[in-house]
Amino acid sequence: MSLNNSIKQNDIDEDPTFSPEGDYIVRATAKKGMIRAFACRTTNLCREAVRIHGLSPVAAAALGRLMSGVLMLGQDLKNDNDTITAIVRGDGALGGMTVVGTAQAGVRGYCHNPVVETTYHKPGKLDVGQAVGGGTLTVIKDMGLKEPYMGKVELVSGEIAEDLTYYLAVSEQVPSAVALGVSMSSEGITHSGGMIIQLMPDAPNDLIDWLEQRLGGFPEISYLMEEGFNPHQILDLLFGDPDIVYHQTTPCSYSCPCSRERMERNLMTLGTEDLRHLAADPSGIELECHFCDRRYNFSQNEIEEMLVGLQE
Ligand SMILES: [Zn+2]
Repeated sequence: MSLNNSIKQNDIDEDPTFSPEGDYIVRATAKKGMIRAFACRTTNLCREAVRIHGLSPVAAAALGRLMSGVLMLGQDLKNDNDTITAIVRGDGALGGMTVVGTAQAGVRGYCHNPVVETTYHKPGKLDVGQAVGGGTLTVIKDMGLKEPYMGKVELVSGEIAEDLTYYLAVSEQVPSAVALGVSMSSEGITHSGGMIIQLMPDAPNDLIDWLEQRLGGFPEISYLMEEGFNPHQILDLLFGDPDIVYHQTTPCSYSCPCSRERMERNLMTLGTEDLRHLAADPSGIELECHFCDRRYNFSQNEIEEMLVGLQE
């Protein structure tokens, strides 16, 4: 397959702050606004997750797919402090995953067991579903309201894209198609990305049929990325719509907002009794952030001071 010359590059070329080689999410509408679409490239941030957690290939594929999905779903968050969290609980070797995305297109995540045996569906095709196993997918959207929104579904296959599709259909009642891909060589991750296609409620039946047919024969995301397609071009190829509208292009990255102050606040929420227990250890305590592996040390003195603070 070769790139069609007619594919529009305008949106990329016209934005001076945008790096066409980097990770980004693009949001678009097509077919007279009847379809909304997201596509992303997350290659660098997946490499960062592998560097932080030392993920084995199948763990990298599972976490990478979930991070791409969460980043695209996070595009609907409105306020700066809004977050979306996806928790996969599975009985497979990975032992589950947690991924958090922010309104600014930052993402962080971890697998409970970062190093698991790699199994394949067929040569070159990692068996993510087996590593995830059977279980549930929970999505929590914290949008600054009194109660966060929460939806929970059974995993369909553990392959992540199908599970997110099912979640969107059942919990959010939005008919969607989700495609996610992470490809690897012996050197590590070569490509990672995905797309989410959603029908607007008033989409006519013939458009639904057309889209189903189009998606049915559409190449895998990994294949397209290996062939050099960027997220804009993947959507162009899918829709073949000269009137596709790109609304926004957002750079995305792996980022963890943890800090000593946050860790201290977490410690304070433990309450007096647990803190007193921790304060009994003369060597203090070391806390490790699950998302970025940064370590924070609190001495016995500091914990005792927190206890005093709590009692005031
Ligand atoms: Zn952290």
